[in-house]
Amino acid sequence: MTITSLWLILLPFHPADPVIDPIGTCAMLPQELGGVVDQGGKVYGTRGLRVCDASVFPIMPQGNLVSLVYATAEKISDAIKADNKQ
Ligand SMILES: Cc1cc2nc3c(=O)[nH]c(=O)nc-3n(C[C@H](O)[C@H](O)[C@H](O)COP(=O)(O)OP(=O)(O)OC[C@H]3O[C@@H](n4cnc5c(N)ncnc54)[C@H](O)[C@@H]3O)c2cc1C
Repeated sequence: MTITSLWLILLPFHPADPVIDPIGTCAMLPQELGGVVDQGGKVYGTRGLRVCDASVFPIMPQGNLVSLVYATAEKISDAIKADNKQ
């Protein structure tokens, strides 16, 4: 399934206007579902490259985005710290 086909399924449930809140161009999803980054923000097929911004949201949230951007930063910084401990 591509991210586009996932969008077509989810769109009726998330009818938010994405004009000033663009998201989802690097979706955090399994690669086989069209994802670009894993749960730690690592870009599939690369080394030493992570994405940490609103582009990793796999679906459009119903509320404003900034609080979720902060939560994403916390989540990915935890993943970086955990990786550095190994
Ligand atoms: C008019 C407007 C009103 C909004 N109001 C709200 C609101 O009230 N509440 C809310 O929660 N959200 C609001 N949003 C949405 C919110 O601002 C964004 O969703 C959020 O800032 C996205 O964060 P981000 O880190 O993904 O991207 P950004 O905040 O856009 O950060 C991207 C950063 O990358 C930098 N950058 C870009 N290209 C490069 C490059 N090549 N090299 C280095 N740096 C680069 C940019 O300078 C920028 O600092 C609003 C958005 C708009 C446009």
